[in-house]
Amino acid sequence: MRLARFENSGPGLGVVSGGDSLKDVTPALDALPAYRYPLPGVDPLIANFSVISDRIQTLLPSAPTIPLSSVTLLAPVANPGKIVAAPVNYQKHLDEVRGDEGLHHQNQINTIHKAGLFLKATSALAGAGEGIALRKLERRNDHEIELAFVIGRTAQSVSRRDALDYVAGYAIGLDITIRGSEERSLRKSADSYAVLGPWLTTADEVGSPDDLELRLSVNGELRQCARTSQLTLKVAELIEFASTFFTLHPGDVFFTGTPEGVGPIYPGDVIDAAIERVGSMRVHVRAA
Ligand code: MN
Repeated sequence: MRLARFENSGPGLGVVSGGDSLKDVTPALDALPAYRYPLPGVDPLIANFSVISDRIQTLLPSAPTIPLSSVTLLAPVANPGKIVAAPVNYQKHLDEVRGDEGLHHQNQINTIHKAGLFLKATSALAGAGEGIALRKLERRNDHEIELAFVIGRTAQSVSRRDALDYVAGYAIGLDITIRGSEERSLRKSADSYAVLGPWLTTADEVGSPDDLELRLSVNGELRQCARTSQLTLKVAELIEFASTFFTLHPGDVFFTGTPEGVGPIYPGDVIDAAIERVGSMRVHVRAA
């Protein structure tokens, strides 16, 4: 299933049916429990996905069809507890960062085995239709396409052998980055700098995440093209590693790292991003 959240005179939930339309199954959200303060540290939609999924199946036969062109696509997960991101998780990207002062800014660039993971602010999350609002325009802002995935159930000290059982689904992540000397978590956490979209493609539909093609172009020019088979730490290894440091909750989002070919973006640019078996999306860039 390709599950989309959208805005169309109110927030909606949809199942992407064809190439260019979705079935509006917004009433499925009525099945969510009524939470009271303090709220649980999970994304309610993902934490209750089996109930929602059953309700969606009931609604689908009579669900209205809406063209994708008439809605604004939002991030498929609205309330992740955290966004976990992998730095320099492709060897060729590590090489390009170490070889370009405009990328490393005199920071020591360690391998992912030494650097571990970092966190992006959840307030940075944006959907494909919301676009990217660039800040610090006097500095370099870069695109980074990454395979993103969403945790489906609570994970603690999970082995890589079992790790994929904890994945609800996959999406395209754009880890937008202000280059400079500050910590990654600051430079990559501006509002809209964590684009997630165009929808959540459930894990059963993707199968193995270990050999998917990623492509990103800016204004029609291909900038990044690689396969997830070139990841240093693969999806299962990232879950194993992360879950020894903290509990992974339903709705937590992972950005698995970008391959080589990162480059600057400017207001007015149009990004086209695609990941095999996951989806494709167009994202507009503007000044904040
Ligand atoms: Mn990145």
